[in-house]
Amino acid sequence: MPFNWDNTYARLPAPFFERVDPSPVRAPELIAVNDLLAEELGIDVERLRAEVGLDILSGNKIAEGSEPIAMAYSGHQFGGLAPQLGDGRALLLGEVIGRDKVRRDVQLKGSGPTPFSRRGDGRSALGPVLREYIVSEAMHALGVSTTRALAAVASGDQVFRDGAEPGGVFTRVARSHIRVGTFEWFALRKDHENLRVLADYVINRHYPEAMDHDEPYRALLRGVVTRQARLVAHWMQLGFIHGVMNTDNTNVSGETIDYGPCAFMDAYHPSKKFSSIDHHGRYAFNNQGSIMLWNLSRFAETLLTLLDEDTDQAVKIAESELDLFAGQHQEALRIRFTRKIGLDAGAPDDWALLQSLLKLMAEQKVDFTLAFRRLTCALDSGADEEFAGLFSCRDGISAWLKSWCERLREEDPSRTLQFMRAANPIFIPRNHRVEEAIRAGYEGDFKPFHCLNDVLKNPFEERADCSEYELPPKPEQIVQATFCGT
Ligand code: AMP
Ligand code: MG
Repeated sequence: MPFNWDNTYARLPAPFFERVDPSPVRAPELIAVNDLLAEELGIDVERLRAEVGLDILSGNKIAEGSEPIAMAYSGHQFGGLAPQLGDGRALLLGEVIGRDKVRRDVQLKGSGPTPFSRRGDGRSALGPVLREYIVSEAMHALGVSTTRALAAVASGDQVFRDGAEPGGVFTRVARSHIRVGTFEWFALRKDHENLRVLADYVINRHYPEAMDHDEPYRALLRGVVTRQARLVAHWMQLGFIHGVMNTDNTNVSGETIDYGPCAFMDAYHPSKKFSSIDHHGRYAFNNQGSIMLWNLSRFAETLLTLLDEDTDQAVKIAESELDLFAGQHQEALRIRFTRKIGLDAGAPDDWALLQSLLKLMAEQKVDFTLAFRRLTCALDSGADEEFAGLFSCRDGISAWLKSWCERLREEDPSRTLQFMRAANPIFIPRNHRVEEAIRAGYEGDFKPFHCLNDVLKNPFEERADCSEYELPPKPEQIVQATFCGT
């Protein structure tokens, strides 16, 4: 068997999940297997790529030792409580221990109905499968904490969304799939005993340092707050908009999860949003920090009974931990963004210098990634014409360049360049490229999908043969909105 399972979640009490087998698909075909990830996980790549692997990755056979379960969770979606969510189209097959000794979940997405499916079909269209594969692996290559893509399979079945579409099955790998919504599931049901079981499980699996703490659940809250504060700053440094930051899509491990309607911005605007269902811009670019704090507040509420017997005291503890979020998030943003202009967040004026650049970029609709990429090249070559050429009105940017150059005189040039190269990717999964890969995939041509994945493997390294992947969309290629596609 390709997998060496070592399951723990399936050992938890009954209310944590429903046992359910995947439903077979008609004619599965392997689109992609992530060999490197498989190796890191100690999975036998050759068997994974063989028929036995395809059977497992399509849900047509249950691997020996796998115990498929649909995990139970609730969630706040767009601010409203949804008490009964859970894995409606996903199944946790089991856990494996990687070469790095880290335990990881292996999950199928699109593997058929479960008791949590409500009115859904439990399936996934091929588009979202390809999108999650491309974007989650790109995020990993960019250094962001994220769930990973182990495989993509075409099911040979049709699913019905706006019309008939080809179906797919995605294999997702995560440090775990435990969400804020998992805690909400038990808190809503006032199941304090299992809430404690869950908290202990999460501490053991993700925050072992909290075990030695006088107040382990407080340390758990602090750990999740810190990881999420930094994670969202990392997204923003790259121009990433998650698009559906519901509490069921906020992983307590600190990994980015759910690539439904996400997108990287092309032209910079602080209140940019893409998701077609995010009518009021709740999850817009610049709201992501405050929304994460909102989600973490829902998390803290679930922990109240564990934080202290006295409710007032528990609330005080929760508030004091949540109060740390803003400072940690701002600090992470300050470091990540000032490095984009080669500075180390030391001087208070550096933040203002950065903000004045962002303001010009927003006013003149300048491409976020390309601007910082060209600014890096300008520093490297000493010629700023290509950078300045991105701005339709030159006056403002010329003045800005002058102040920036003056500021850089105080810095070590090689350090400045090093910061900028590491903070400003050359390649991101641009929406029009992702759409192009999906469109071709729907025609049975997976070459653009594979090419794009290949380019995105080393996002900070120049590749002369791939320079067209650096470029923003032409007007007719602009993707205005993204769709969950569920
Ligand atoms: P998401 O929008 O992917 O975060 O999913 C929110 C909830 O809807 C989760 O409980 C999913 O399992 C469920 N869901 C989404 N799509 C489907 C589907 N096609 N069939 C059944 N459940 C689904
Ligand atoms: Mg989700």
